[in-house]
Amino acid sequence: MAYDFDLFVIGAGSGGVRAARFAAGFGAKVAVAESRYLGGTCVNVGCVPKKLLVYGAHVADELEQAAGYGWTLEEGHFDWGTLIANKNREIDRLNGIYRNLLTGSGVTLLQGHARITGPHQVEVNGEQYSVERILIATGGWPQVPDIPGKELAITSNEAFYLKELPRRVLVVGGGYIAVEFAGIFQGLGSDTTLLYRADLFLRGFDGSVRTHLKEELEKRGMNLQFNADIQRIDKLEDGTLKATLKDGRELVADCVFYATGRRPMLDNLGLENTGVELDERGFIRVDEQYQTTAPSILAIGDVIGRVQLTPVALAEGMAVARRLFKPEQYRPVDYQNIPTAVFSQPPIGTVGLTEEQALDAGHKVTIFESRFRAMKLTLTEIQEKTLMKLVVDAETDKVLGCHMVGPDAGEIIQGLGIALKAGATKQQFDETIGVHPTAAEEFVTLRTATR
Ligand code: FAD
Ligand code: NDP
Repeated sequence: MAYDFDLFVIGAGSGGVRAARFAAGFGAKVAVAESRYLGGTCVNVGCVPKKLLVYGAHVADELEQAAGYGWTLEEGHFDWGTLIANKNREIDRLNGIYRNLLTGSGVTLLQGHARITGPHQVEVNGEQYSVERILIATGGWPQVPDIPGKELAITSNEAFYLKELPRRVLVVGGGYIAVEFAGIFQGLGSDTTLLYRADLFLRGFDGSVRTHLKEELEKRGMNLQFNADIQRIDKLEDGTLKATLKDGRELVADCVFYATGRRPMLDNLGLENTGVELDERGFIRVDEQYQTTAPSILAIGDVIGRVQLTPVALAEGMAVARRLFKPEQYRPVDYQNIPTAVFSQPPIGTVGLTEEQALDAGHKVTIFESRFRAMKLTLTEIQEKTLMKLVVDAETDKVLGCHMVGPDAGEIIQGLGIALKAGATKQQFDETIGVHPTAAEEFVTLRTATR
């Protein structure tokens, strides 16, 4: 049977666009449906606008450091409206680039909500399309716990479009988004409190990293409340919000921001018309080749809930396009040693095993850890410390993990990701000549084991 399309991609986000473009490039007849925004979460309400706001917040640090370098500045004034308007202009530009990327590579772009109506049938804007295969790349959506007053809270989706910078913010959660947005609000001047439900935020990150960031954020004056969770939110007569905590305390703020994880976006997708099964967490169940339990349907990216990062969605999209239409170039995605950064202030960069994971996996480890004041700060009053840590297998000398908290951590960790992928040993780190004077050179001069 001749189908309208060889591959029908639902969602023009990181994974969907990558799969669609490459599949079309390999000669397949491809359509992509997008209901909201080209480029998906990352471009519109994720990585890109987030990083722009982080840059905006970081200017405050630069201004503080300026005096030490002899600069006298008039008292600065920050305008949230300008930052958001400029950010929006950049996002519009990127949306146009994504449109050109898709149409330029021969993909049919359908703007509208896609609903699967059968194993080989998708409906968009009332039109039915027959398709050989469907790729679900619909991403995720913020998830807010069901508490009274949850409708008074915002999520990252709304934060990017706030009319004003809130004077007082309560950020709820202890993952990437909570820590990054707490840093943005704090850096731009909001009185910021971060509430996390357990002992220490960033569960899953290396223990030294978590403790170090906690100390640095406290030095910056962020109010960190651990073992704290909101029971209800009420709006007061003057429009401010009152959060009542489970321990009975009451906190008042202008904005309550929830970053408590993301659910898969499956709304009105028509999965009931397919044999697609979900896993125990509600994400789409796939095998190692992104095949769902329905033979004609695949899924990638945040909707499969494996590793919710843009470069991972890109790699999965590429793997699917190659496997289906260029099998000789197919390579499975390597989920080991994925480098990642948390763009907090200061940022975290990490790749490989944490000390805790290495021990749990049965490794005997040697730990190399260093804390130092970055050279740039020596002419300033700022006492911030950078942390660098290597987790090394004591038996094989292989470096199992690299962890950093400090300026440019994301930039520095990318190269170390290649070293770990290549299986570098501590001796090879030691034999690598440093770039002087940089912070990064500390990773190749960590001579004395701390434990
Ligand atoms: P998405 O990019 O979410 O794309 C899914 C697309 O599908 C959306 O455009 C949606 O509108 C569309 N869609 C959904 N349902 C339908 C339907 N039925 N019909 C048609 N279209 C539909 N990752 C990083 O690596 N680095 C970062 O710094 C980073 N920062 C982030 C910051 C925030 C605030 C957030 C929320 C996420 C961040 N991420 C970051 C994660 C990253 O954005 C995601 O992992 C990535 O976007 C996932 O890509 P995806 O293709 O799976 O889905
Ligand atoms: P995360 O899963 O990273 O963190 C969720 C946080 O919310 C955790 O601290 C979790 O606590 C807490 N939480 C979950 N449920 C509740 C609840 N009911 N009440 C109170 N707290 C709760 O999700 P995010 O929303 O921060 O981000 C989603 C994903 O997006 C990230 O995991 C990451 O993959 C990606 N991302 C990547 C970025 C980057 O690369 N820089 C930036 C932003 C997002 P606990 O740990 O106790 O479960």
